[in-house]
Amino acid sequence: MMEKTTDTSSNFLNRRDFIVAAVSTVAILGTVGLTGKAQAASPFTLPQLPYATNGLNPIISDKTISFHYGKHHKTYVDNLNKLATGTEFADLPLEKIISATAGQTDKAAIFNNAAQIWNHTFYWQSLTPKGGGEPPAAMKQKIIVSFGSVDACIKELAGAATTQFGSGWAWLVMAGDKLKVVKTANAEVPFTSGMKPLLTIDVWEHAYYLDYQNRRADYVNAVLDKLINWEFALKNIG
Ligand code: FE
Repeated sequence: MMEKTTDTSSNFLNRRDFIVAAVSTVAILGTVGLTGKAQAASPFTLPQLPYATNGLNPIISDKTISFHYGKHHKTYVDNLNKLATGTEFADLPLEKIISATAGQTDKAAIFNNAAQIWNHTFYWQSLTPKGGGEPPAAMKQKIIVSFGSVDACIKELAGAATTQFGSGWAWLVMAGDKLKVVKTANAEVPFTSGMKPLLTIDVWEHAYYLDYQNRRADYVNAVLDKLINWEFALKNIG
């Protein structure tokens, strides 16, 4: 039996399946879409990390990854399987579940777990062991059009990531034909507001506390300097 996958393998990332979401979300997820398969007993699976658990050392330790990926991310998958199995959501792609449940108080648990699976899968792809540095030329050009310079873009991302109050995410997104930095709280995703995600940084404490304790800015600056995956952002522009 085929399982629906939340995998973000290269095959998955190359998909151009524009998702027509259940409610207002438009087709903005071309390169990160998830495609539903036949329904299974536990239809949602933990995607593979795109690198080894020690691949982001020393910026993010393998200890952090082992908890963040192996416990937190996995728990969202386990929870969604418990919540969605046997419901109308069991055979839907994550984006459709997220869009269909966003803002609905009685569906908050399904939304939170589905969105956190999606967000973490996207976050792992937003980092790469030899990241940071100069974006590829096509990406750099788009950044300059919207922010004036790469440094200005990075400064804005760092600002959003460090000032997000409490748990959440900082994002580089496409909003119309411009790049923009936004932040979201808890499990919220930009695509339910019509923005196309390009990159994200997880600023929940579990993302950095083992390595940086309360020094969120140090984590954010190190990620932007050494791990951020500009190639991934460029692919997501499509
Ligand atoms: Fe997280």
